[in-house]
Amino acid sequence: MFGKNEIIGQRYFADAKDKLFVTSVFHTLQGEGPYTGRPAVFIRLAKCNLACSFCDTFFDDGDWLSVDEIDARIELVLDGADRRRIGIVITGGEPMLQQNVVVLCEALLGKHAFVQIETNGTVYQVFPDAVTLVVSPKCALKNGVVLNYLKPNSKILARADCLKFVMEDKVGSPYNAVPDWAFEFAKDIYISPMNIYNDVPKDAKMLRSEAGASSIQKRSTLDEVVSFWEPGLLNMSQNQKNHEYAAKYCLEHNFILSLQTHLYAGIA
Ligand code: SF4
Repeated sequence: MFGKNEIIGQRYFADAKDKLFVTSVFHTLQGEGPYTGRPAVFIRLAKCNLACSFCDTFFDDGDWLSVDEIDARIELVLDGADRRRIGIVITGGEPMLQQNVVVLCEALLGKHAFVQIETNGTVYQVFPDAVTLVVSPKCALKNGVVLNYLKPNSKILARADCLKFVMEDKVGSPYNAVPDWAFEFAKDIYISPMNIYNDVPKDAKMLRSEAGASSIQKRSTLDEVVSFWEPGLLNMSQNQKNHEYAAKYCLEHNFILSLQTHLYAGIA
């Protein structure tokens, strides 16, 4: 994990009023899933209700921002670019934990090429139909031991535009296969090979050590850039196995292989 990943629930945001707790806002190319390769502004919302061991994002800290303040940050990072050509990806952490995420989507729909939310599927909120809902289920944890997949709420599964699963080649790991219930899902299923790191990237380490003192500006520029090609950062032999296994699994089941392409390009 790149952060400490303190597990929290929806109650954490009970006093949010009209604000969202935002880790970072940055302009990049979407690396995974249905909009791979397309320009997008990522809005990373802070905090999560899970603590997956392979989690490669830092979302411990945030700034409380209104929808208008988030919109102003989008303007800032796009620096005059045509917003209609650029999508929005709202991710986390777990964005569904924050009740104001629906209002945020409503404010951004129509201004951008697309609005996508990525969720682990454990919390349900009603979104406008035009929002693309990518559900990436994860496994429950107990005392650091990975248990079975958490099946998303049936309303989320009915609303999901696609599913995305992380996969590793390790026999016995729940991440070695897609859970049985997912085979009933009629829309697209993406498989993303798990990337294993030898170490936490130095920028993420620095932000972790700042413990609440970092700025949204710093988090938006420093932490998100990780390169697949940085010597020693990733466990290349294990990652090769995971990539090859995921590709074979996709061929066997007619799923879609989704690599973390932003890592290969060394962008956020
Ligand atoms: S659900 Fe996603 S964001 Fe949360 S800890 Fe797991 S991988 Fe990280």
